[in-house]
Amino acid sequence: MKIVKIDQFFPRPRMRLVKITTDNGLVGWGESTLENKPRSTMAAVEELADYLIGKDPLRIEHHWQHIYRSAFFRGGNVLMSALSGLDQALWDISGKHYGVPVYKLLGGAVRDRVRVYAHWGINDLSDEGLAKSKDRLTYLQKTGGYSAFKAGPAGKWRAHEPPARIDQFVKCAYLMREWVGPEVEIAFDFHGKMTPALAIEICHEIKGMRPMFVEEPVPQDNVDAMKLVSDHVPFPIATGERLLSRWEFRQVFEKQAVAYIQPDGSHAGGISELKRIANMAEVYYIHIMPHCAIGPVALSACMHVDAAVPNFLIQESVGPDWLTGIAQPAWQIVNGFIELPTVPGLGFEIDEKEAAKPAPYTEELGGEHFYESDGSVADW
Ligand SMILES: [Mg+2]
Repeated sequence: MKIVKIDQFFPRPRMRLVKITTDNGLVGWGESTLENKPRSTMAAVEELADYLIGKDPLRIEHHWQHIYRSAFFRGGNVLMSALSGLDQALWDISGKHYGVPVYKLLGGAVRDRVRVYAHWGINDLSDEGLAKSKDRLTYLQKTGGYSAFKAGPAGKWRAHEPPARIDQFVKCAYLMREWVGPEVEIAFDFHGKMTPALAIEICHEIKGMRPMFVEEPVPQDNVDAMKLVSDHVPFPIATGERLLSRWEFRQVFEKQAVAYIQPDGSHAGGISELKRIANMAEVYYIHIMPHCAIGPVALSACMHVDAAVPNFLIQESVGPDWLTGIAQPAWQIVNGFIELPTVPGLGFEIDEKEAAKPAPYTEELGGEHFYESDGSVADW
């Protein structure tokens, strides 16, 4: 079996799909979306396609090593996202070739279903804001039966903020707890927007509502700063959606900088590397909660690893509304869990006609930008 064609699709701002076709008609799909940099991975996939055409798609590890190691410059979010999408598509082909879901090729399922959380929160305490938030909570509980949610403090955060700003966020956090009760888990994503001092201060203000974890309290690229926050906060801290490959996670593990990691199946090196990162984390009693704020193909890829590794805690998903349309998964979210698919491959059908309708390139695809009141750049 040989790879004969690699096509790319860009149907939504946050959905860049790759399709690998073999000479015997098998097709594998992967997602190489890089949020806010939609054109960059396209060029990288094109370059890597030159290498993959004519190769045996079942030699996944060999191709992973070639793409990662053989061209001298390694890593970076563009190359790793391109590699991730291609790796997922190769696993999809392997599953279809051997007639099994991908998790069976990863050692088999260690659990019967995979727990997921959705994005929900209260950011706006006006009557209208609260009504909107209530509606989304009801929708998520009805459609997916979720029992865990994640919210973020909205907008930009300076090195320090006046009490009113902090109090507003703290009030929202306690109100969320009041609405859902003590059986439901609530996490917060600080989006790496804070300094260690501010993050620690805010974490102490919200500790009474018992968060499940706080994610990226500070940016991901200084492991010591992350550990400083962890050491001063009495609940779990998480990081990892912007860390790529085992090499970037190594220090997080060795310093025991966080309780949970969040590698992204479409950025960290695909299914192959996500599994290896999870296995490495197991040694440090660190659980994985794979990041996924893009499409259902990426979510499927994460889910197969979640099914096959012991140190999995929970899977991120935006919500059921992100699962419809272009890709129809062969799995469902029931009572807050993904029921493992039994179909060969990654387990979804792509509506190729829909996928072929390109998303218009607009400036918004480059992401929102934040500036301080003095005109200086604030973190996203
Ligand atoms: Mg995040």
